[in-house]
Amino acid sequence: CGIVGYVGPNPSAKALDVVMEGLTRLEYRGYDSAGVALIGDGEVVGEKRAGKLSNLVEALNAHPLPETATAIGHTRWATHGGPTDGNAHPHRGGTDRKLALVHNGIIENFHALKKQLLAEGVEFASETDTEVVAHLVSQAFGRTGDLTQAMREVVNTLAGAFTLLAVHADQPDVVVGARRNSPLVVGLGEGENFLGSDVAAFIGYTRHALELGQDQIVTITPDSYSVINFDGTPSDGKAYEVTWDSAA
Ligand code: GLU
Repeated sequence: CGIVGYVGPNPSAKALDVVMEGLTRLEYRGYDSAGVALIGDGEVVGEKRAGKLSNLVEALNAHPLPETATAIGHTRWATHGGPTDGNAHPHRGGTDRKLALVHNGIIENFHALKKQLLAEGVEFASETDTEVVAHLVSQAFGRTGDLTQAMREVVNTLAGAFTLLAVHADQPDVVVGARRNSPLVVGLGEGENFLGSDVAAFIGYTRHALELGQDQIVTITPDSYSVINFDGTPSDGKAYEVTWDSAA
């Protein structure tokens, strides 16, 4: 339902703060669960909880996460699988659990994809349509060693509506996003960049935004961004300034 991503220069408390603030600003859209994932020392760590954001905050207070440069967060409005801790996003991919992914929307063909993964022996931790994408991107990362390339391979096999963000522990200062029939906006900062399902996700930090077109993938690092179409051709995206008052 709500999505936030952040990548900045140095591991600090800021990455998690930005993502939690973004999720709070997106609360108005409604949600039944929330979660975050960030890249710690060579691994992805996170917390996710059914219910209000305050449940997630409590869990984070009880088990503080390490400082990081890269974080993603999600508020969920369940469509496949009930509103439980286990079905909350981010979802992990791979037996190494190095991939974390959040999703807004519905993967229409998840049944066929899940059947195939189960036949390969992949174990699922949730009932969501989303988790199939986490495993598929993890597998594609294993083949390509590159998160953007992995995302591109996988989105071309998906049907439905989705905004996706993924991080991988082996590419610690990268967040990759993709969209089809669901919104994704890039926030451009100084030495840091943002992703959101809505500009509200990062409006406290930057007014410089970039709108992604249909069927596009964006890759952000602390000091760069690049956009490609699902067919692999490069794109510029559409830059604009957010003008409405952030207090609104
Ligand atoms: N279909 C996904 C789920 O049920 C994502 C729902 C959403 O957009 O929050 O987990």
